[in-house]
Amino acid sequence: MIQLPVRDPCDLCRAIQAERWKIVEEGGHALTVINPCQFEVGQCCVITRRHVATLLELTDPECTAVMLHARRVAPALVGACRPLGILTFQNNGVYSGQETPHFPSMSSPEHEGSDWGIGPPQLATFDGAGRQCGTSHDPRDDSSRRERVRATEERLREAVALIRANLPA
Ligand SMILES: [Zn+2]
Repeated sequence: MIQLPVRDPCDLCRAIQAERWKIVEEGGHALTVINPCQFEVGQCCVITRRHVATLLELTDPECTAVMLHARRVAPALVGACRPLGILTFQNNGVYSGQETPHFPSMSSPEHEGSDWGIGPPQLATFDGAGRQCGTSHDPRDDSSRRERVRATEERLREAVALIRANLPA
């Protein structure tokens, strides 16, 4: 049984409603938003419009929409951030690093020396992540890490404008 993170109310549902997470692009089933915690500059997140926790619960149209959003934002990140790679991943359950019970798929431009390395397992060794290798993620110690990567409203607005300008036609 997949163990889900607990957040009530769901912060992604609240974010969509309050527009606290800046929207890069939105569709009927999915949205691409910029993560207020910029572990990498330009890091975006494709989320489902519907509150649904994991890949296992997505409908076919939601699956398609998520992948199409990820495919569209990838070249936009290449144009906006000039990365050496694009890291795309998503987590299902706290033991995979999921922090919010709302489907997320990350799209992160990666550079030489990028904090996230090649994906979620590297969170185990991420400086200040507060997590021992082989254990589930405990978000209680995240405040200093999150504070370090929290982007200002202005910086997020600028990043969204740049990414939007690079979206494929
Ligand atoms: Zn939600």
